[in-house]
Order: sequence, then structure tokens, then C-alpha cells
Amino acid sequence: MSSNRRQCLASIVDHRPDLPEHQNVSLTDLYGSRVFGDRAMRKRLPASCYEALSDSVETGAELDPRVADLVANAMKEWAVEQGATHYTHWFQPMTGLTAEKHDSFLSFSGDRLLLEFSGKELIKGEPDASSFPSGGIRQTFEARGYTNWDPTSPAFVREGTYGATLCIPTAFCSWTGEALDQKTPLLRSNEALENAAIRVLRILGDDRAEHVWPTLGSEQEYFLVDRNFFVNRPDLVATGRTLVGARPPKGQELDDHYFGTISPRILDFMEDSEHELWKLGVPIKTRHNEVAPSQFEVAHIFERATVATDHNMLTMDVMRKVATRHGLVCLLHEKPFAGVNGSGKHNNWSMATDAGENLLEPGDTPAENGRFLVFLTAVIRAVDLHADLLRISIASAGNDHRLGANEAPPAIISIYVGEELDGVCRAMMGGAAPQSHAKEKMQLGVTSLPPLPRDTTDRNRTSPFAFTGNKFEFRAVGSSQSVATPNIVLNTIVAESLNYLATEIENGGGGEEAMQTVITKSLKEHYRVVFNGNNYADEWYEEAESRGLPNYRETVTALGHFATDTNVKLFEDAGVYSRRELEARANIAYENYATAIAIEAQSCLSLATTSILPVAMRQQERTARSVSAAHAADGSLNLGPQEECLTRIATTINDLIKATDELATVTAENGHGDDLVAHAEAMRDKVLPAMEKTRVACDALETMVDDDLWPLPKYREMLFIH
Ligand code: ADP
Ligand code: MG
Repeated sequence: MSSNRRQCLASIVDHRPDLPEHQNVSLTDLYGSRVFGDRAMRKRLPASCYEALSDSVETGAELDPRVADLVANAMKEWAVEQGATHYTHWFQPMTGLTAEKHDSFLSFSGDRLLLEFSGKELIKGEPDASSFPSGGIRQTFEARGYTNWDPTSPAFVREGTYGATLCIPTAFCSWTGEALDQKTPLLRSNEALENAAIRVLRILGDDRAEHVWPTLGSEQEYFLVDRNFFVNRPDLVATGRTLVGARPPKGQELDDHYFGTISPRILDFMEDSEHELWKLGVPIKTRHNEVAPSQFEVAHIFERATVATDHNMLTMDVMRKVATRHGLVCLLHEKPFAGVNGSGKHNNWSMATDAGENLLEPGDTPAENGRFLVFLTAVIRAVDLHADLLRISIASAGNDHRLGANEAPPAIISIYVGEELDGVCRAMMGGAAPQSHAKEKMQLGVTSLPPLPRDTTDRNRTSPFAFTGNKFEFRAVGSSQSVATPNIVLNTIVAESLNYLATEIENGGGGEEAMQTVITKSLKEHYRVVFNGNNYADEWYEEAESRGLPNYRETVTALGHFATDTNVKLFEDAGVYSRRELEARANIAYENYATAIAIEAQSCLSLATTSILPVAMRQQERTARSVSAAHAADGSLNLGPQEECLTRIATTINDLIKATDELATVTAENGHGDDLVAHAEAMRDKVLPAMEKTRVACDALETMVDDDLWPLPKYREMLFIH
């Protein structure tokens, strides 16, 4: 075996992690212990200061500078007690990652050392922002960007080995106020949704609820591979996915991994990362093995969508870091391995009121069920009208490998409502009471409104957007992406529909009857987006087309529908994105796509020509020598099959050289482009196919070359050996 692979395996067999002893810390003590949350603030802030802060969180009003100073000081003292030496504004630029720049609390008064942190430093930061993507918003002459404290998401302390850092969640804007991040539009979209939902609630006679916010629970899939393998796979290092690799003899066919017992080494990792996340107040709930070998999932308890978004970013970050100390690497790419399932992220979404109600929960009273139907109809209408935006919100080079590949929902966005609710909706549209066979029903009390099923347990796993009893589950989100964009879109489009329904109900004179008329009419207009069947079946593709539902199969096509006039108007009306902000996001998405593929192409080319071609040549030489030696020994031998063997390897090497030549050419010709769209299209149409040809030749060679010569860790090793 090649010395690399031999060493990898030896290191893994000898793996003895240097992990701390198990400490008997109770979950109650652990949870939130590194968060400057409500409990810490109540304890450490003067009552009036705490009130003023809560007030400003609730109303969004600017904080009195004196109050800000008090909060900053209390926060610093708390953080210093936790061992913090530094603070950072923690933000989410349009890289899809988080960003931080640390400053220590160190300061001097004369020669006296002080630990200082002012209200001004808490509220505003000015990182050198010129290198973050802005999609054209920020020219160099106006390069300044500011981070602004987001008091709705609590500050926390992250521990390192030798110190700790106070992290303050912030939004990131240009000096002209344009959003340069994911947080700002998410907060704006919350507000749009809140205003629209409150408007509807008032029409429905609800005077109690004062606030509405979207709720989000995310389920995160990921792979773990041993770090020894990882560092010997230049493709994984450079791109997060394997660009070559023949199928292992055993993949996921046996379904023996899903929910299987968790191996001790993996469990160590899970427990360690959960402890870290619990300390940070991330409500991790569920862990299990996923479908593919070495694939796992972690799920949170739902929270307010902005906090849940921060927490998902933290989860990804913490898992990556914790994996390192276990000698593992956490792969968050959507498709690290061909031939087995890729990774996604389920985005469970609903709306909650400050009166503690879930607006997508069918209730016990006629009023609650009427309300449920209005909010349900709003979502159905929103998804039908803006399926394009939901599709775009999850578009990336990585996710293109999953969507529609019979492991993830297709690129066609449709809604699953379940049989029971479907019966209810159809009855409403037909004007008759449904023949429901629900086990448990709720009476609406209003004869013309049918009873609603309380639970829809039969879940259709193939649907991209499923109603699961009291929330919608958007299942097409990619594992590596921030959930901000899908939630910005969801909040905005549902806000628009709620406003539309509110106006229609008002125009119809308000009241029960107007409400029913409006629901029925909207359902009729938009019910084509509801599909309860198998989304993986070929027939659905035809059926969806005949229903006029868009099917943007890959990212570049999808992005072509992003910054359209209709969408600009939608986002501008909602106060979520300006035209420039939306166009900037489209530009960045094109760039990200092209860059991802450009890096993959370079990595694939170098791997193929400098790692694989040389060993294939060596194998060819050996085979050739062996055949001619046999000939020389006995000229009468029939060496047909052996000669064929030689021919096969020679032909595949030829194929590989042709493919890499083509890949080199198209990569050079399409290295960059001023026209973002044309560049992305060239990547899709020229570079991707050349990469695929290269891969086919490499994978064929992997099955011909002496296992001892093969330099790269193989799928059967990476996926099955821990
Ligand atoms: P699955 O069946 O897809 O594995 P579960 O039913 O176990 O999913 O949980 C799905 C997720 O939905 C969890 O993260 C949970 O916190 C979240 N969830 C539950 N209720 C709501 C809600 N009202 N709003 C948002 N998310 C929710
Ligand atoms: Mg789920």
C-alpha cells in the first residue's frame, strides 16, 4: 500500500485521543453558562438600566449612551470573570460564514493598567471591511462598514485553550446604511412579518398579541472523517468535497447506518460539541446517525429565527473546531462523496406570538381554527407566488449535487399538507364539508367551516416544503449554507401574503364570512402548488410542468430569476432589500458559484495530473513489462486477455490525458469574466463537464491500479474507518 495510506491507517489504529476526563457537570449548570443572557443581565444591571435595555430590544429604540456604558461595563465584568481577555463584534458577512476581529480589554491610564469596554465599543465597531464581498455595493472610496450591536441576540464567551473572547452578535452595514450581511435583512424581514401578522390578528379580533416573530428549528447534517484521511485528500482540503473516488464495495444500500448505534469515537465528538454548544446557550436536542456511512445529524429546539440562525452558525463553527481535537474533520459540504447521500439542513419554520401561541397550530376553538386557516392560506399563496425565490434562496454549486437527485427534494418547490388537511382545503374550495377520517377532530363550531385534523402524522419525506402538524419544514436547504437567506425569503413572502389577505378581508367587509370567502378564493388560485405525492417520481416532473410550477434545475438558471423587477418590488415594499442590495446578492451568488467551480477545477486538474496520472503510468509500465516478459519466456503463450488488460489501462490513460487537456483549456479560457452571468454559465457548461470526464477516467483507473500504488485514501477507507 502507498506509504501515505499505510501511515493513515496505522495512525487511526493507534489513535488515542488526549481528551479531558469526564466531568460530572449537570446540564442545568452547563446550559447557558457562557451567555450574557437575561439571567446574567437581571443580576448584574441596575433595575432601571435593565428596563431601558429590554425596552429598546422590544421597540428597537436607540439606547441611551449612559445605559449603553452600564451594559458594556457589566458585560465586560461578567466576561472577565469567565476568563475573557478580548471582545469581538461577531457578524455574518455575505461570505455565508461568520467574521470576527478581536480587541483586548487592555488599556492604560498613565502607567496604570485598566480593563476597558465602553458603551460606544459595545454598540458600534468599524472592522476594516474592504475585503468582504459587497456585490458592488461598496466601492473602495466608500469602503467603510460598521458593525452594530444586535441586542436581540445575547452576547457569549467562547473559550480557547489559553484564553476566552467575549462575542457580541452584530449586524454589518455600509456607512450609507446598506446591508452588507445576512443579519440586517433577517431582522428587517422579521419586522415585515410581525407587522403583517399583527394586522391580520387584529382583523380576526385578537387584541392580545403585541408581537409576532418567526420561529426556526434547524436539523443539521454533516460527515465526520478521520483527519489523517482528510489531509491526504487535497480535494477535500481545497473544496470540501472529493472530486475523484471510485464507489466503495458497500455504500448505504444496507440501510444499516441510519439510526444505528453511535460508535464510541463519534459519541465522544458529539458529547464534546454538545457541551460546548450548551454552554453557549444553543438548545441542542437530538443526535443520530444519518443515512450515509459516516453521516450524522444534530437538531436544535426551535427558537426565534434570528437567534436560531446565530445558533446554527455557531453549531457549524463549534463542530468544526471540536472535530479537530478528536482527530476528525467535520465536513459540512452538501456532497462530500459521490454515490452516497449528501447533506442538507431542514428548516422548520412557524410564527409565534408573545401570548405564547403558534400561529400554524390548529386549535381547539372556532376562532383558533379560523386563524389557522388564514395563516395556512397565506403560506400556500406565498409559496405558489414566490417558489422562484425559495428555490433561489438555497441555490449553490454544492446544493446542485443534491436537489433532484433522489436523495433530496427536487428543485421544484411544492407543498405537502397531508391527506387530512388536503381534505379540509378541498372541501373549502368545493364548498362542502369534507369526508374526513381523522381520528381526532376539532369542531370549529361554525357549520360552514369544516373540522380540522389535529395532527398529520403521515409525513412525506420527498416533499421540499412540508406541513408537519404545526410548522412548515423547508427541506431543500444545503448543509453548509446559512439559514438566513431562506428565512429572509420565507418571512418576506408570507408577510406579503398576509397583507394581501388582510386587505381582501377588509375589502370584503371583515368578519367570518369575508374571511371564508377570501380563504376559499386564495386556495383555489394557489392550490396547484400543493402536491402530496412522491416528489422523486418522474411523473411529478411532467405534472409540475403542466401545473406551471417552475423547475430551475441548477443554480445559474435559478439566479437568472433573482433580481427581477417583481422581486425588487416585493423586497422593497417589505423594506427588506433595496434594489441595490438585492442585485448585490445576486452578483455575489454568481461569483460564489463560479469561484467554487474554478477552485474545484484547479484542484481536480492538479490531482489528476500529479497524483493519479503518474501511478497509472507506472501501472501501465508494469503491465507492459509483465506482458513482454511472458512473451519472451514463451512465444507460443496466448496472452490475449493480458494484452487486453494493457489496452484497457492505456486507453483509460489516454482518456484521462484528453480530459485533463480539455479541463486545462476550458479553465484557462474561462478563468475570469467581467460578465458575471456569462462566467457562471461557462463554468456550468464547459468546466463542470470537463471535470466530470476527468473524474470518470480517474475512477476507472482507481479500479485498475495496484492498491499498493494508489496514493489517495479511498472511499471504502474514509467512509468506514474511524
Ligand atoms: P423530523 O421528524 O424532521 O426529524 P422533528 O419533528 O424531530 O423532525 O423536529 C423537527 C424540528 O422542528 C425540531 O428542531 C423542532 O424544534 C422544530 N420545531 C418544532 N416546533 C416548531 C415550531 N413551532 N417552529 C419552528 N420549529 C419547530
Ligand atoms: Mg426534519
